[in-house]
Amino acid sequence: MKATAALVRAIGGPFTIEDIELAEPRGSEVRIRMVGVGMCHTDLVARDGFPVPLPIVLGHEGSGVVDALGPDVTDLEVGDHVVLSFDSCAACPTCDEGLPAYCHQFLGKNFAGVRLEDGTSPLSQGAETIHGNFFGQSSFASYAIAHRRNTVKVDKALPLDILGPLGCGVQTGAGAAVISLDLKPGQSLAIFGGGAVGLSALLGARAMDAGMVIVVEPNAERRALALELGASHVIDPVADSDVLATIKDLSGGAVNHALDTTGIPSVVGIAVETTGPHGTVGLVAVPPPEAMLPASMMSMLMRGTTIKYITEGDADPQVFIPQMIGWYQDGKFPFDRLVTKFAFDQINEAAKASEDGSAIKPVLVF
Ligand SMILES: [Zn+2]
Ligand SMILES: [Zn+2]
Repeated sequence: MKATAALVRAIGGPFTIEDIELAEPRGSEVRIRMVGVGMCHTDLVARDGFPVPLPIVLGHEGSGVVDALGPDVTDLEVGDHVVLSFDSCAACPTCDEGLPAYCHQFLGKNFAGVRLEDGTSPLSQGAETIHGNFFGQSSFASYAIAHRRNTVKVDKALPLDILGPLGCGVQTGAGAAVISLDLKPGQSLAIFGGGAVGLSALLGARAMDAGMVIVVEPNAERRALALELGASHVIDPVADSDVLATIKDLSGGAVNHALDTTGIPSVVGIAVETTGPHGTVGLVAVPPPEAMLPASMMSMLMRGTTIKYITEGDADPQVFIPQMIGWYQDGKFPFDRLVTKFAFDQINEAAKASEDGSAIKPVLVF
């Protein structure tokens, strides 16, 4: 069948809107009519040269309606509302452990641009192969081929067009706070960076009834939003020449845990020193390739610090997406406050708004 997709044909973009053809879903594949799709930093990293084959359809925060099912899918129906997340193999030791974000085939399943089993793509344009299967979905398109494994059924009463970010960016931030840092009620947290992932961590912390949450973010509008979403304090790292001292002051010496969403080594160094005994420092950003941790090993020894790199919030999407939706329905997880909607054909404008910081979480609607 025909679909309209945003293609990347050259490193650095732009996205070009073109007609493509989709093969019929086979095996455990699911064809989705897309209703909304978030734009995540990883889409722009891939556009700008992260090794994916070109031309490709990116997009990995899709939400939509089941349109057709492969013959092996027996527990979904055409018409079901679904959110798409990252893909995993379901058969390796870490998938068995319930940690699909560390699937041994994570890179292949999410970045190869083809089906791993035979190297084919379900997408084409005339005789030309168009790479798909990005995060098992390639959802910058009016229709996408996903897999039963990364398709999560949701309640039809929910606002389907904005649910996609629950599949990646919001899951990453909230999962980091709730699952990776295992924040307990009353515990304190310092979050470095108030973008989509940092503010989602704040939402997760609030959903867990955390204590003090401090958000460090240079953008004034994002600091204001962080306060509205429940941050106890915000710090402007441009105006404050000693962020570490300020956090120590505010928290009475140290916070329980810290989360870095910036990937900037000097910021991670501060994050490490803000945590108290038995604290964990979560790291979620892609660092510069040559970056090393600027942290005192003796200082970490004295406090028993854990440094933890986190993929996708350590979440199992089939478990955590319904959990976040439950919090949203209870009014304690307003992730919709992070969303700015764009029409699908405004995808390049959405990318620009993401890069210049004017939109925290762009969502393209069809
Ligand atoms: Zn696996
Ligand atoms: Zn993402």
